[in-house]
Amino acid sequence: MWVELCKAIVITWLLPVHCLPVEQRATNVSLQNPDLFAFHRAMLAIDSTSGRETNMTDFVANHLRSLNWTVELQAVHNPTLDPNIRRENIYAYLGSNRTTRLLINSHTDTVPPYYPPSDDDENVYGRGANDAKGQIAVQLFALEKLRKENKIKEGDVGILWDVGEEEYADGIRAANSLNITPIWSITGEPTESFQATGHKGGFTVYLNSTGKSAHSSVPHLGRNAIVQLVAAYNEVVQKKFSANRFWVNTTISLDKIQGGLVPNQVPDNAIGTINVRNAANASVVLEELISAFDKIPYVSIIRNASMSNPIKFDVIKDWIPEKVMPYGTDLASWTGKNYRFLIGVGSITTAHTDHEVVSKAEMIQGVDYYADFITGLLNGTFQVDHAGTFPNITP
Ligand SMILES: [Zn+2]
Repeated sequence: MWVELCKAIVITWLLPVHCLPVEQRATNVSLQNPDLFAFHRAMLAIDSTSGRETNMTDFVANHLRSLNWTVELQAVHNPTLDPNIRRENIYAYLGSNRTTRLLINSHTDTVPPYYPPSDDDENVYGRGANDAKGQIAVQLFALEKLRKENKIKEGDVGILWDVGEEEYADGIRAANSLNITPIWSITGEPTESFQATGHKGGFTVYLNSTGKSAHSSVPHLGRNAIVQLVAAYNEVVQKKFSANRFWVNTTISLDKIQGGLVPNQVPDNAIGTINVRNAANASVVLEELISAFDKIPYVSIIRNASMSNPIKFDVIKDWIPEKVMPYGTDLASWTGKNYRFLIGVGSITTAHTDHEVVSKAEMIQGVDYYADFITGLLNGTFQVDHAGTFPNITP
């Protein structure tokens, strides 16, 4: 696939890493930028699962201070979490002027479970390798490169690395009150170094399955709530939900089941969690789900509080290739009216897995395209193709 795609790319000054012949994907790539990979690895060595970001925030904030960035830490409170765990967004800028023309954004938390980093000649592995510590590393090294070249100055850029992206979106919601009004924001998430043209919305619903208990030696006298729940899901997952050609399709995924008490009793209750990635208005898809489950006896649906609609991003005309992303980000909860872009290293196909990975060559290239992106926006040589729709949160 890459061969055709690469042929289709008319700009030659910046070829995506996928287009490089294998022999040019240098071995010992780390040696090309050892500081980049040392910083990345140091972040990966820290467990910053959502809700427990303290050590990661402290490490990154101290590193920024050592580079002479002004760092503000914004406390993020979440009533569902232990108040004794300190959780803070990082907002950093140059000098004393906290207003910014361009906001550089990503997140410090990761999904569970944590596992430590490792690497080989081509890749770095570990929780957060691409989602999103690889983004933070690339963004910071691009900014530092531009500082050394005197291409950014006080008031040009601000860095927002927030907590809670993977689970609560509480960090970005808190950041809405930071009182910064950038013209543009670039968010780093794994996009395989494509410019993201948009991403889907998302929400979670719970299923409640009511069965009938029985002794496990005579299971036919009961009604197994777990089996019933899985059967209901298998029926509903076959259906087509509302979508839009731009965001492609709406997907649902049964991600968690709780049910059963003991090994010798047919369970009479089970609860399932379904994650929805909607390619159409969230409330429309929710209604479709409700009516699908309404037809199934003993299984009912309980909606969750927060839902987001799909959004579009702005892109740079005639730059690197574009693609819509199948996932969502906490940008759906960002209320700023700025142009917004989404781009980053690594792929969603390994994010959130036990084999999360990022290519070293892609990270090195990421530093370069981030530097070009930042410069192009600040000096006006990059033309924004304005497609962005601002998010609509359905409470
Ligand atoms: Zn992420």
